[in-house]
Amino acid sequence: MENETVSKNFIENIIDKDLAEGVYDTVHTRFPPEPNGYLHIGHAKSILLNYGLAKEYNGKFNMRFDDTNPTKEKTEFVDSILEDIRWLGADWEDRLFFASDYFEQMYEAAVKLIKKGKAYVCDLTAEEIRQYRGTLTEPGKESPFRNRSVEENLRLFEEMREGKYQDGEKVLRAKIDMASPNMNMRDPVIYRVAHMTHHNTGDTWCIYPMYDFAHPIEDAIEGITHSICTLEFEDHRPLYDWVVRELEYPHPPKQIEFAKLYLTNVVTGKRYIKKLVEDGIVDGWDDPRLVSIAALRRRGFTPESIKMFVDLCGVSKANSSVDYAMLEYCIREDLKLKRPRMMAVLDPIKLVIDNYPEGQIEYLDAPNNMENEALGSRKIPFSRTLYIEREDFMIEPPKKYKRLFPGTEVRLMNAYFVTCTGFEADEDGTVRVVHCTYDPATKGGNAPDGRKVKGTIHWVEASQAGRATVRLYENIVDEEKGVYNKEDGSLNLNPNSLTTLTAYVEPALMEAKGYDSYQFVRNGYFCADIRDSKEGAPVFNRIVSLKSSFRLPKA
Ligand code: ATP
Ligand code: MG
Repeated sequence: MENETVSKNFIENIIDKDLAEGVYDTVHTRFPPEPNGYLHIGHAKSILLNYGLAKEYNGKFNMRFDDTNPTKEKTEFVDSILEDIRWLGADWEDRLFFASDYFEQMYEAAVKLIKKGKAYVCDLTAEEIRQYRGTLTEPGKESPFRNRSVEENLRLFEEMREGKYQDGEKVLRAKIDMASPNMNMRDPVIYRVAHMTHHNTGDTWCIYPMYDFAHPIEDAIEGITHSICTLEFEDHRPLYDWVVRELEYPHPPKQIEFAKLYLTNVVTGKRYIKKLVEDGIVDGWDDPRLVSIAALRRRGFTPESIKMFVDLCGVSKANSSVDYAMLEYCIREDLKLKRPRMMAVLDPIKLVIDNYPEGQIEYLDAPNNMENEALGSRKIPFSRTLYIEREDFMIEPPKKYKRLFPGTEVRLMNAYFVTCTGFEADEDGTVRVVHCTYDPATKGGNAPDGRKVKGTIHWVEASQAGRATVRLYENIVDEEKGVYNKEDGSLNLNPNSLTTLTAYVEPALMEAKGYDSYQFVRNGYFCADIRDSKEGAPVFNRIVSLKSSFRLPKA
């Protein structure tokens, strides 16, 4: 996937130009989440983009919580967000900030605007403000409070701070242009009264700044050069620039918008995930079926795989949606050579080798990864009684079936050739035991006489096999029906999103601890769950199956 002529994205082009023209002499970016939920794969894109640019240009990257709205913010989310960003490898060094630490400076900034005649206290109700705002085709109407004197505005704004007014009774508005074609410029509210306790500042404040006013101030205070956000803020940029200009910051930051990352048929909205968590449909914010960063980590995704994915997605100004299969491709690519390939039988039936000595156990050599010798090898037990996958035996197979059926010979991976001699089945036809004989001369999986077999199947020795719980996943939503219910907007859930099995695994797998991942040959990549274990045995979550029709998009 090495691409020698990697072309720069449009943000790099803007930065190059800024540096060449001396607009800035350094690059300083930030990631500014609101601590009101867990981060998801879309945020990972923003984090890696901002951090990546800072590194590429030898600049700095700040971590900043945009916690100016006390309603939904919680310390639990602050902690989870920091853990996720650390895990992704984005390093903010000693620059961890909270926008709420700037409340005093924001207040001073508002006072400055009032003194310049650029802000006023308005008594209209929220509904009246909406009515006065006009529409896309009609200009707005000026508030009757628009021309209050500077002195009166200063006094009223101070009284707002002192708690003299109820929520909604008064707001501070920027005095810009009620006839602007851009609705955001029609005297936007920049401060509101809200008698609420804030997770960081407690009850110090009962007025809080609005996002569009606060964000440029946060960026300017921290010396951010390129303030990267998503496309929905494009129409807010004139207001961002207005705030920075009117407050006369010496090194004004620049807002740049890029398109959000969307995954086709995947639920990313905080609102929906929150509901799935609250309704107990998933096992918390890190349920492996979700695409929160915590969920991807628990599922067994690696920071490297997410970085690869984000890089493949690229940075663009046009909204588009990426297939989840591309994310799966990235984790397969990342684990392929790094992790051991072990044997686990998910849907077991017994295989008895009738000519193998009863009571004998031998230990066979198995390479840990056929494609990467550096991972070494291990010994695996072998005896007369094994487990194989139910689907690896058929009584009357279709043409082209390469596995076991009466009369055929197959290879037991890393072991011997065996020939099927018969089977035992229940009255309803369910096969219980498959019988075979082995050829001792084929130890290691090759016949000295050069004869070939069509199939190789995996197995686990019965007496030493571990019993482990295995979880297989499908999309949490029903792709056929569409993600959202047309009637009420709720999610169309897939009833089969989780399948739990009891598998037989090689003894070595019983030592697996949380985040340990493996390829289970022929069955996919699996990761030991961080929380759950059953009777001392690990629970394995399937990260991804091995097969895919996914092809890399042409660059
Ligand atoms: P959501 O819409 O999922 O609730 P949000 O935008 O409200 O997310 P914030 O905490 O405000 O979440 O986002 C922090 C940063 O992450 C912002 O700069 C935002 O633009 C960026 N971001 C959020 N979602 C995506 C996405 N899907 N793709 C890329 N960047 C994103
Ligand atoms: Mg947001």
